[in-house]
Amino acid sequence: MTQSMKKIAIIGSGISGLTTAYLLSKKYQVSVFEKNDYIGGHTATVDVEKSGRTYAIDTGFIVFNNKTYPNFLALLSEIGIGKQATEMSFSVHNCNTGLEYNGHNLNTLFAQRRNILNPKFWMLVKEILRFNKACKAIFSQNSYKVDYTLGAFLKDNGFSDFFAEHYILPMGAAIWSSSLTEMEGFEFRFFVQFFHNHGLLNIADRPQWYVIPQGSRSYLAPLCQPFKDNIHLNADISHIERQADSVTLSFNDGSTQIFDEVVLACHSDQALGLLRDASEDEQQVLSAMPYSTNSVVLHTDDSLLPVRKKAWASWNYQLSEDRAKAASVTYNMNILQGIESNDTFCVTLNQKEAINPDSILREFTYHHPIFSEQSIKAQQKRSLICGHNRTHFAGAYWHNGFHEDGVRSAVEVAERFDCFLAQRPKG
Ligand SMILES: Cc1cc2nc3c(=O)[nH]c(=O)nc-3n(C[C@H](O)[C@H](O)[C@H](O)COP(=O)(O)OP(=O)(O)OC[C@H]3O[C@@H](n4cnc5c(N)ncnc54)[C@H](O)[C@@H]3O)c2cc1C
Repeated sequence: MTQSMKKIAIIGSGISGLTTAYLLSKKYQVSVFEKNDYIGGHTATVDVEKSGRTYAIDTGFIVFNNKTYPNFLALLSEIGIGKQATEMSFSVHNCNTGLEYNGHNLNTLFAQRRNILNPKFWMLVKEILRFNKACKAIFSQNSYKVDYTLGAFLKDNGFSDFFAEHYILPMGAAIWSSSLTEMEGFEFRFFVQFFHNHGLLNIADRPQWYVIPQGSRSYLAPLCQPFKDNIHLNADISHIERQADSVTLSFNDGSTQIFDEVVLACHSDQALGLLRDASEDEQQVLSAMPYSTNSVVLHTDDSLLPVRKKAWASWNYQLSEDRAKAASVTYNMNILQGIESNDTFCVTLNQKEAINPDSILREFTYHHPIFSEQSIKAQQKRSLICGHNRTHFAGAYWHNGFHEDGVRSAVEVAERFDCFLAQRPKG
């Protein structure tokens, strides 16, 4: 068998699996197995009919930027997909006190005009500036404490509960779809590096954000073009076993298929569940990177947004008393995707009970990686399991959990097979 005939199975058709397949198909025979009856994983644009018009609304992956998505941008340019500028703004609405603001500009910050005379609110603004300055200094001096959490940093540096609960914890919770309590346990170095790289410690000089025109699913067809006849939907794999010279995929109907190598591009827990002969390293590393479940509802009930329209941002966080509750965030899709409609299309995480049932258009369950000290340590052990035993692992969970991370994890797998993006980003 010539090397170019090597057969590689890829499990999962999210951005990680499809990018792996796209890159490996430059030299190898790839087969993609997807358990759903559609491809894309978290790239899930749906068509919604309203008042005689059809809107393509993103319900999973929505935005990316010009600074921290180098591999994804290179991929889009290679497959000829453009981008549409969008606004990234963040609002907080406290359901108990009624306080609300949208950090987009001075006018929206004081959308609730009485905050101009509210000393607590001015203190919040002051603490945001102090927090940013302190984190930037730690980043530039690389002076992180070992085994340190965001919660410990806030406490040690005397930040108020009001600041924590009305700014930094909800913002982090919205980004990583976690609860406020989980954000307190977030690894501090990981947090600062992410916030710094995304310009979130700056008031100005933030990256330009984009969406994919006509919905994020638009990139799927050109990405899959080279291997479109080798995608198997509704794949019902019961388990995977590795032999000295091959990998066997066993299906629940009793059939088997043999490959030279396998790339598990599903989530860490799903990958471990498939490996009947998992090594001790695979067990330890993959089980240390758990996922959490998030309910996602696409609807048109704008009561999930702040009361004042001026405070409507692209991302809107509703604070409740339950700090352990998963992130209650609503994406305003009209702002994000530039949709003009009398209806406001909203994608809400983890608050189905608050949504008017008549306004619900679609419902989904997605899973997000949980980033803790333990999972960050496990990420660093990827080389212990990836590339061994004819088995490779791709997935956004290996890095920051976003689209760039899915692509990056796939690029790293493909490099091992001497397959590259046409224009490899520097660094
Ligand atoms: C609501 C939401 C909004 C988001 N918004 C953004 C955003 O705006 N920007 C951003 O950068 N990131 C965003 N993300 C993060 C997103 O998760 C990542 O960007 C990325 O899409 C994850 O890709 P993945 O390939 O690692 O996983 P997934 O997309 O989850 O793909 C994994 C695939 O594996 C399949 N699979 C699992 N088990 C099996 C099996 N046994 N056999 C076969 N197939 C299997 C699954 O069905 C799935 O298709 C968002 C996530 C969610 C949930």
